Amino acid sequence: MNALKPGMRVAVYCRISRDFTRGFLGVNRQRRDVLEMLAQVGIKVPLRNIFIDDDISASSYTRKKRPAYTEMIRRVRDGEFDIIAAYTTSRITRNPRDLESLIELSEETGVQFAFVKSPPVDLNSAQGKAIVRILNVIDTQTSDTTAELVRRQKKAARDAGILDGGRNRAFGYATNRCTEFHPDEVEHVRWMFKHIANNGLPGEVGARFRELGLGGVMGSSAWRPNHIHKMIRNPIYMGMMRNSDGELIQAGGVKPIVKAGLWRSAQMAMDARALGTSQVPRKKYLLSGKLTCGRCGSILLAQAPFTQGNGYTKAGQWKCRTRNEGGCGQLSRRMDIVDGVVVSTVEKFLRDVHDFDQETPADTDADPDPKRAELAKITAELEDIRQAIERGDVGPKDALPVMAAARRRETVLRSELRASGSQATRTRTKLRNDALAAWQSGRIAEQRTILESIIRSVTIHPNGGSRKNLAATVKVEFHTAA
Ligand SMILES: [Zn+2]
Repeated sequence: MNALKPGMRVAVYCRISRDFTRGFLGVNRQRRDVLEMLAQVGIKVPLRNIFIDDDISASSYTRKKRPAYTEMIRRVRDGEFDIIAAYTTSRITRNPRDLESLIELSEETGVQFAFVKSPPVDLNSAQGKAIVRILNVIDTQTSDTTAELVRRQKKAARDAGILDGGRNRAFGYATNRCTEFHPDEVEHVRWMFKHIANNGLPGEVGARFRELGLGGVMGSSAWRPNHIHKMIRNPIYMGMMRNSDGELIQAGGVKPIVKAGLWRSAQMAMDARALGTSQVPRKKYLLSGKLTCGRCGSILLAQAPFTQGNGYTKAGQWKCRTRNEGGCGQLSRRMDIVDGVVVSTVEKFLRDVHDFDQETPADTDADPDPKRAELAKITAELEDIRQAIERGDVGPKDALPVMAAARRRETVLRSELRASGSQATRTRTKLRNDALAAWQSGRIAEQRTILESIIRSVTIHPNGGSRKNLAATVKVEFHTAA
């Protein structure tokens, strides 16, 4: 009863979709194969009984509606057809719900189904329903295999060093296959690698690219740090790629933008930052994250010095973020001026301050001053935490809030001890001398720690258009009145 017979009235349904999980099959081939199957039993189908939907059309409206399908169902309900013929069940049904509504349709109208890739089924019978449900599953698996095939081809190409250009070209290149430089972009890629290799931050690269108004390759000009991060990690810039095992191999035809040595230096700088190792400062600049805009209150960003095309080197600047990023975009001040003011302020503080004696209470057995005891305890705790970080027992991220709180208390205690005129005022302490020595060592990580313990904030005020006395626009505030 479910075999095709001459004289049956047949609706042919074809659907093309770009949905790879359901398999891709050209409409022409579907239609030819279905018509051939029907011709073998002497059935000819007039053109108006062939229904074609195109899921590829961008409109999701069309995708949902499937106008040809709707029209076909309407005519089935009108009793025009005995059979719906298609290439596979998956051409008619897109999901299990479609299948169930077809089963209902079959029960209501008695229409049957014929498929090129499977025996004709009668959805009126329990057996037919079971078969078509199973076929639906098999169809999906078959097309999964197609996807698997594509995946394997890609893998083979990758292992052979053939670059899959993909949809987006890499920044700095004119083509997806990275065979030609982009004349306006290539120098910025080189600068990025140099900047990162010199312990610059991805965020600074992004800030500069935005500043220069460079467009991203995917139409975005946001240049987020993770975007910069991905670019730095991309071996294509030294003419290499990763095979499926993640090993670096030569990429065929790719023109390298930077030398392998520079690329690797940038990776090492990134690795060191990711590990948070103390050897490499997290921030390149002493004052990164510490300067506030006097106009809008946002944190100023560093812009490294750079040499322009005409050979003129522009000095490094502290700049407010653009409005899009929450700043006012209207304040910038030369780095050497700002840093000079802050550095000399800190040095003066370290030299002048009349500090207390830092010898540990353990030496004097019972210290009568509870504040002094507490200070010694905090100092010891800070040292413990520092050692724990060095051993790797504690991550810097976890420890920093604790350390910051301890340092704040330490500063308060010191100032109170100083104010109380305790015995401590007599000599400069070993601690302070250590601090001065550490400060003058020029190691940014240590300098930043000292800076944090002394200075509460640094605000850069607008200069009112004057270039005179810019140093006076830098306002340094200490944790306690010193
Ligand atoms: Zn601002």
